[in-house]
Amino acid sequence: MFDPGNMDALERVADTLRVSERLVLTCHVHPDGDSLGSMLGLRLALEAMGKKVICYCQDQPPSNLGFLPGIDRIVHDVDVPLDSGTTLVMLDCSETRRIGGMGPSLVSSAGGLVVIDHHLGQDMCRELSDVPCVQYINPEIFATGAVCVALLDVMGCDITPDIATCFYTAILTDTGSFRHSNTTPLAFHIAARLVESGADPYEISDRIFERVTYAKLRLLAMALDNLTIEAGGMAAIMHISLDMLERAGASLFDADDFVRYPRALDGVEASALIKETEPGKISVSMRSRSWFNVAGLAKSFGGGGHFHAAGFRTRGDVSMWRSRLAEILSRELAQKQEQNERNG
Ligand code: 5GP
Ligand code: MN
Repeated sequence: MFDPGNMDALERVADTLRVSERLVLTCHVHPDGDSLGSMLGLRLALEAMGKKVICYCQDQPPSNLGFLPGIDRIVHDVDVPLDSGTTLVMLDCSETRRIGGMGPSLVSSAGGLVVIDHHLGQDMCRELSDVPCVQYINPEIFATGAVCVALLDVMGCDITPDIATCFYTAILTDTGSFRHSNTTPLAFHIAARLVESGADPYEISDRIFERVTYAKLRLLAMALDNLTIEAGGMAAIMHISLDMLERAGASLFDADDFVRYPRALDGVEASALIKETEPGKISVSMRSRSWFNVAGLAKSFGGGGHFHAAGFRTRGDVSMWRSRLAEILSRELAQKQEQNERNG
């Protein structure tokens, strides 16, 4: 059995799931491999226990995750208020608004709430004193999917090949293929266990990373063309506009991993990818290499995430956000660098 830390909280989560007969599992808007893998793997385990489970996610899954078992059964609309006694399980998401527009009505009509996440979001249980609530939130753990593996162990559930595929995808994507700074020995241990249980590492990586459309490559070429280096070489910024999407014949999902290119530039500490999601609406992805906390910056704009990977959604246009972020990153990176130098 794996110990991801805070086993008491995990036991409480397991107890709640055991007694729940009807569940709605949900995750954050613009879902990724971790949120979808966690949701679909946990559903398979709960269904094997004879429970009635609905997976709800506001947004469509990215096409490269179409191989995940049960992905076609995710619903994008659900009747609210929920049937009485339904337990709502939030995965990879600990803020009501990160569920999307349905968040408030789902949360307020749930008979019980379970939160499993590795982001520091809201303290849902404290805020919802009128709904029975248990939460397992551990920002030290690399993927929500890893918490789910430990949870299944606590509940005594089998990890079938399909479940292993879901959770392996969660861990693979949230550790950036075991390359990000969150990659711990436990990540390899759990991944090895999932491969033993039937996840196919070659097939999964191939499906996620090695099947690129021509439209995506065209979009990447356009984005690289507008990359600028800022903050005396410590930052780099790129953008995707609706016009670029149209010209490339691509979708925003195609740009999901583009933010790694500006960060990969030698000498760059922080990168930002500004995406126009609708006219006047912007989503910003940020990454850092070592010492700059992009989650702090994202939080100051109402977003969140992790030290090295964070984002926020806002209003405005691309050029305004390009200059605003260039200015802020220049200032904050210089300040932090000065601090680092003072502290030796
Ligand atoms: P990405 O840049 O890949 O969309 O997200 C990087 C990280 O930041 C992920 O952990 C994601 O959950 C988090 N993140 C991205 N956008 C937002 C946002 O608008 N709000 C919050 N709270 N977190 C975000
Ligand atoms: Mn995650």
